[in-house]
Amino acid sequence: MTDKPTMSNQRIARAREAMAVAGVDIMVLSVGADLPYLIGYEAMPSERLTMAVFPATGTPRLLVPELEAPRVAVDPEVCRVQPWGERERPVDLIAAMLAGASTVAIGDHTWARFLLALQEGASSLRFVPASTITAPLRLVKDHGEIALLTAAGAAADRVAARLAAERFSGRTERHLGRFVADALVEEGHDTAAFTIVASGPNGASPHHEPTDRVIELGDTVVIDFGGRIGGYCSDTTRTFSVGEPSTEVAAAYEALQRAQQTGVEAVRPGVTAESIDTATRRVLDDAGYGRWFIHRTGHGIGLEVHEDPYLVAGNHRPLEPGMAFSVEPGVYLPGRFGMRIEDIVVVTANGGRRLNESSRALVVVG
Ligand code: ZN
Ligand code: ZN
Ligand code: ZN
Repeated sequence: MTDKPTMSNQRIARAREAMAVAGVDIMVLSVGADLPYLIGYEAMPSERLTMAVFPATGTPRLLVPELEAPRVAVDPEVCRVQPWGERERPVDLIAAMLAGASTVAIGDHTWARFLLALQEGASSLRFVPASTITAPLRLVKDHGEIALLTAAGAAADRVAARLAAERFSGRTERHLGRFVADALVEEGHDTAAFTIVASGPNGASPHHEPTDRVIELGDTVVIDFGGRIGGYCSDTTRTFSVGEPSTEVAAAYEALQRAQQTGVEAVRPGVTAESIDTATRRVLDDAGYGRWFIHRTGHGIGLEVHEDPYLVAGNHRPLEPGMAFSVEPGVYLPGRFGMRIEDIVVVTANGGRRLNESSRALVVVG
């Protein structure tokens, strides 16, 4: 069993070391993944402010609306909960705690209205994004985090296997999307987070939202889906052919599969994040599809579906064991079809380990 208070205290201690190095006097976190990462509580996105205050020393404090206090289960050794009543102005309470500070790190997802109110009350404060403190900590996953990512990946793989046995033709994207969302939960996710079902020409839009388009014979269908287990995300993409693929689709898919494989094989500690993007892109460039690969190769994953490190040209950060990210090249021909293959990969001591192992072949469905 993991000792949650100890884990939180260790993470908070590391955040404080980073604050000291960055010259940050105090850190305040509201909605977003940084707060649950540090104390295990996720703020409700609401006009009623939830905000945790992490001073350089002393016990952090979590201000929550009084009516939400009953749902907070935070160890008092980690963080002291301070409920505020409906007639109080929580921003004033926070401002009082910031007195004497000069540089404040504030959670990147904090609503602008709260930051603006804080700035109005204390014009001498300098605010910096809390991600400068928290992102480097969250970048390398510990064993517990990797176990949750692994479980989420395996659950997503079972959804992919079930999809391969489904009839696609005659169903709408929306209908198939609901099937995927239900299956994500049935296979073990706490919640379904997203389902992209992009058929025929819609496949050329990488973040397509399912529509009422009826899937028909001859379509290529991109399905990208994920959910959460214990807060940690799955994210995988498989491409399906309704009936046998055309020679054009088959040729593009062959190049895409080689590109994805090449990208995964390039993963190892010490190489840059950018180099994985270069590896996949080179295969598609050489095969003549580079023009149609219109996004970066991948993104980090953890408590957020998209987080550091991003596998993109210009990111010279070296990969380290424990980093987790997607490798997801795609080919998108506007007005015609699209295709993508996506696996989550964890950096190991000497390479990369896929967390998705469902078939990466172009799956022919009815
Ligand atoms: Zn995406
Ligand atoms: Zn995805
Ligand atoms: Zn992704």
